[in-house]
Parts: sequence; C-alpha cells; structure tokens
Amino acid sequence: MRDDDHIAFDPQTCRQCGGRCCQGSPGVWVDPQRFFAIFFSGEQLSLAALRKRLPELGLVLWEKSGVPVPAPCSVIEGCSFWGKNGCSFTVAERPCQCLALIPDPATLQQEGCACQLPPLFSFAEAQRQWKKYWSISAGK
Ligand code: SF4
Ligand code: SF4
Repeated sequence: MRDDDHIAFDPQTCRQCGGRCCQGSPGVWVDPQRFFAIFFSGEQLSLAALRKRLPELGLVLWEKSGVPVPAPCSVIEGCSFWGKNGCSFTVAERPCQCLALIPDPATLQQEGCACQLPPLFSFAEAQRQWKKYWSISAGK
C-alpha cells in the first residue's frame, strides 16, 4: 500500500461542510510507525517517554480502554487543532483516521456526520496496532 492510498478527504465537500467531524471528536493515529515518523523522526519511544513528550505537541493519550492511543487534545469546540481555517496540521501530519474518513455529500443535507471510516481505520484497529506496539516496546 502506498503511503497516500488511505487519503480519502475531499476538499470541496469538506470545505462546504466546515469540518463537522473536527467539531465532534478528533481522529487518532492508527499506525504507530507513521506517528513516530511524523513527530519523532522515526524514533520509537517507550510509553513513559511518550507520555512526557506529548503535552508539548498538544497531544494526549486516550487510554480509558486500557490501550494508550495518541490523539489531538479535545476542547469544548471539538478538536483543539481545528480553527476557522480548518485543520492546523499539514495533510502529511494529520491523524490516520482524519485522512481515511470518507466524505459523504449527504452530510451537507443533514444534521450530524454521514461520513464513514473504513474498517482498517476503526478505533478497534488503532487499539490493536498500538497494543502490539506497546507489547514490543515494553520488551526492549
Ligand atoms: S464531516 Fe465529512 S464532509 Fe464534513 S469535513 Fe468531516 S469528512 Fe468532510
Ligand atoms: S486533527 Fe485536524 S482533521 Fe483531525 S479532527 Fe483535528 S482538526 Fe480535524
């Protein structure tokens, strides 16, 4: 799979929508390797080291489910990286789920979000990938 194969976003539909997904819950980075390549030049950190470094990036760990998964901070308006000019991450940095969400023009005609995430980018898949990563990094 090419690195950009998972990019589904449609600037025209999303511009008209104004980022309803971003005003709900942020997307997460599903692929640990991609996450560390973006933020740490590929250096793969332990959980304790990542915990220390995340605040300076404006990121948090979602870990209520028992598997820590990095995500943008949430604020009352939704994702803290969302603003009137859209997402402040570059496309290359944006969470895997944000890129993979398939815009559905039906969203423009209704309340809420009709856009769908492919199963490979579900939160369950993110948990699966991060669980595997943490189990390997704990053994280093
Ligand atoms: S809710 Fe759907 S249409 Fe709106 S910005 Fe998000 S992906 Fe695009
Ligand atoms: S990271 Fe960007 S695209 Fe993803 S929810 Fe936040 S503002 Fe939206």
